[in-house]
Amino acid sequence: MTDYRSVRGMVDILPEDTFLWQQLEAVMGTVLQQYGYQEIRLPIIEATQLFSRSIGEVTDIVEKEMYTFADRNGESLSLRPEGTASCVRAVVQHNLQQTVQKLWYQGPMFRYERPQKGRQRQFHQLGVEGFGVATPDLDAELILVSNALWRGLGVRELLTLEVNSIGSPAARGLFREALVEFLSDHRTTLDDDSQRRLETNPLRILDSKNVDTQALLTDAPALSDFLDEQSRDDFAALLAMLTAAGQPYVVNERLVRGLDYYNKTVFEWTTDALGAQGTVCGGGRYDGLVTQFGGRDTPAAGFAIGLERLVLLLKGLEAQSVPQTDIYVVTADAKSQLHALPRVEALRQALPGRAIQAHLGGGSFKSQFKRADRSGARFALVYGESEQATESVTLKPLRSEGEQVTLPDNKVAAFLAESFAGANGE
Ligand code: ATP
Ligand code: MG
Repeated sequence: MTDYRSVRGMVDILPEDTFLWQQLEAVMGTVLQQYGYQEIRLPIIEATQLFSRSIGEVTDIVEKEMYTFADRNGESLSLRPEGTASCVRAVVQHNLQQTVQKLWYQGPMFRYERPQKGRQRQFHQLGVEGFGVATPDLDAELILVSNALWRGLGVRELLTLEVNSIGSPAARGLFREALVEFLSDHRTTLDDDSQRRLETNPLRILDSKNVDTQALLTDAPALSDFLDEQSRDDFAALLAMLTAAGQPYVVNERLVRGLDYYNKTVFEWTTDALGAQGTVCGGGRYDGLVTQFGGRDTPAAGFAIGLERLVLLLKGLEAQSVPQTDIYVVTADAKSQLHALPRVEALRQALPGRAIQAHLGGGSFKSQFKRADRSGARFALVYGESEQATESVTLKPLRSEGEQVTLPDNKVAAFLAESFAGANGE
């Protein structure tokens, strides 16, 4: 017999967690709409080159993490490892860059990584992107949007904002030369990964986790000394806007981010609450990407949130209002079940927003009441023989509030509405 399991690193999200995801999605929808961002839905599969060219041939993602395959026609396709490339492709393809565009998308991303807490092979991102604005007010707004999401979810206190400017491509080129020159003199002190990166992607050495490499870097040339004037001014303006908005930040000179397409502003939101997988959100400006994809010169910036990590943060919070059944319907037998059916349908229409669960599968009153109790419902509605005869229903409080009452069918909706309104202090 075959023992079927989900693919390593690809997980099922079970009902005990889906309510957290729904809560997350609800807050996301509200906040993004408030800031004037519109949803775009993008395919999960794209031409491999779309990613290799934009993210960078010598990045971890492209070198070792992509799910790449040939389709039946021999074309190289990949499951998307991130969303920005697709979003830019769509903007160019549909000529959306005529006006300022503020877009968001959400969905699964795929990276072949070592699965661990907060790191999966299929994971989900919320991506938020703005096109057609060169000034740092866009960068500031994006940061404030992410902050509003944290506030809406009650995790703001758990997250720290780190910002940096990596300058223009030209400025970064000069810095790269200086960095390589410095590190080449200390090549033997570098960890293996960093030695390799010295040839391929030296800026990535800056976020090496290796202690000796980190120690070495304290004397390395500083990126901030190489910044072009425009990047310097824009960064100062960004910081002034954050301060004006009351948004705390930490400038982290080592922050460079792993993808090739960034310039000027980069930022990350990190937390201590998730161990090694502490980065919940990363983003920055990518002014060159639209032209690289054949579009008209269009400045742009964006960020992506790792939703699994956010859900882990939500799980760590004390109070979680697990949604539960409000009313559980108990019936004496098949005949009373049939009698109850249209009445319960009508009740659901009369009480939108109330979870009314009808018992399924028969069984004794005793076993049905046990289920009613476990459901967390406040009331059991009982349809028995006498209720049927008198066109009424018995309402039994399950949370020891008040007496059991029998009400005419046409009075029960109003009675329940009032009971729930009273309890909620509405
Ligand atoms: P990390 O350094 O943790 O690998 P990254 O720099 O590769 O992150 P980005 O490409 O910037 O990540 O993606 C944005 C966010 O998506 C990350 O900050 C993280 O929260 C989340 N993320 C990235 N890879 C994974 C993964 N394999 N599993 C779960 N979440 C992920
Ligand atoms: Mg990564």
